[in-house]
Amino acid sequence: MNAHDSERMHGVLESLGYAPVDDRDAADLIVFNTCTIRGSADARFMGNLGEARRIKRERPDTVVAVGGCWAQSQKQNVFTEFPFVDIAFGPGEINRLGEFLARERIAPVGAFTLDGRFSGELPSHRQRPHQAWVQISVGCNCVCSYCIVPFVRGRERSRPLDEVIAEVEAQAADGVVEVTLLGQNVNSYGRDLSADTRVTFAQMLAAVSAVEGISRVRYMSPHPKDIRDDVIIAHRDIPEVCEHIHLPAQAGSSRILKAMRRTYDRDRYLALVRRIRAQLPDIALTTDLIVGFPGETEEDFAETLSLVAEVGYDGAYTFIYSPRPNTQAGDSMEDDVPPEVKGERIARLIEAVHASARQRLGRHVGTTQEVLVEGPSRTNDKLLSGRTRHNVTVNFAGTAPVSACVRVVIEGASSHTLAGRMADVAAPVGA
Ligand code: SAH
Ligand code: SF4
Repeated sequence: MNAHDSERMHGVLESLGYAPVDDRDAADLIVFNTCTIRGSADARFMGNLGEARRIKRERPDTVVAVGGCWAQSQKQNVFTEFPFVDIAFGPGEINRLGEFLARERIAPVGAFTLDGRFSGELPSHRQRPHQAWVQISVGCNCVCSYCIVPFVRGRERSRPLDEVIAEVEAQAADGVVEVTLLGQNVNSYGRDLSADTRVTFAQMLAAVSAVEGISRVRYMSPHPKDIRDDVIIAHRDIPEVCEHIHLPAQAGSSRILKAMRRTYDRDRYLALVRRIRAQLPDIALTTDLIVGFPGETEEDFAETLSLVAEVGYDGAYTFIYSPRPNTQAGDSMEDDVPPEVKGERIARLIEAVHASARQRLGRHVGTTQEVLVEGPSRTNDKLLSGRTRHNVTVNFAGTAPVSACVRVVIEGASSHTLAGRMADVAAPVGA
């Protein structure tokens, strides 16, 4: 979502006549789009803000703007703590960037309401011409006890289907072939819409897939509590919906899941995985996992490790618990797992995820996969790089333009990537 919002900020600034420069020291305007999901995001941003302070001291005409979730969490305090900041705004105020830049000449501007326009309505500067983020909802009505998102992005609001489709049609006309639908909890989409405009997330998947020119549809993230059979069936029956579901588990112990207020336990999560695999035996499943939540014992952690083995994830994002202001866990639970224990647990967890992913990715070796070309490989510029429908990066030998869909014979697998060569003949995908 932050990457999406950055593309919109870039698009808004471009429409106002701004152009990016490579060197921060040469900029007239410095805009930060901040994250505050973990303490480490705040710490990294503090380093960047220190840089901006130095530049402002050397060149007082430079305008410093701080947008995004950290700014939202601080509101007007930004100006007292960091007086060199000219503009501060939350993720709900991106559409007013132009107005802020005009007003800032008179006095510092701060704006933090969360119920304005969707940033998805703004001009965008896409990082990749053929791939687009599409905001379908903002905010979150869940109360996960560790999570700051509901406080900095507000209550959940859905974008009407016709607006989403109009945006996807415009993107397709502009060369986009792959879209990723975005929301904090995509599959609760639509519940806040009026009865005459309400559609389900599965209906949204079908409508987006029907847009001429769109060949791949992805989404991020669903909440396991809200995955209904119609979404699983959409994966099975709609060719554009990709063979990947990101299914954030957070923990393997039911006791910890309860303290996290995730509203499912281990058994229910595993039952969902079985329901998905019964219809979609080859689907890629990835997840988010947190270690060191307050009160997590070695036994609890062992259940996260065993969940990884039992599900067989194709990949996972792993995080060390970080207490956040305003959250239930941050405010009222002691952060009692010592840092060295958290460090040791995350190392073991990463090892388990790698083992699972290596095994899962290995099943592709010997098959032919449809790969959407993204450009030269980062590690070897003689190779091309692209993504499979399962969302795995493939580095491969061959010649093809960016955004082409090619067939690649998979010859090797690691825990993160596949390796192969472009198929000479039109081999059937998946064979
Ligand atoms: N709405 C999405 C993602 C939210 S944030 C979802 O529910 O899946 C992305 C991930 O950051 C979460 O899934 C969680 O694993 C992690 N995260 C959130 N708050 C955290 C915290 N306080 N400490 C550590 N990890 C956290
Ligand atoms: Fe945070 Fe939970 Fe909402 Fe995800 S579902 S954004 S983890 S509160």
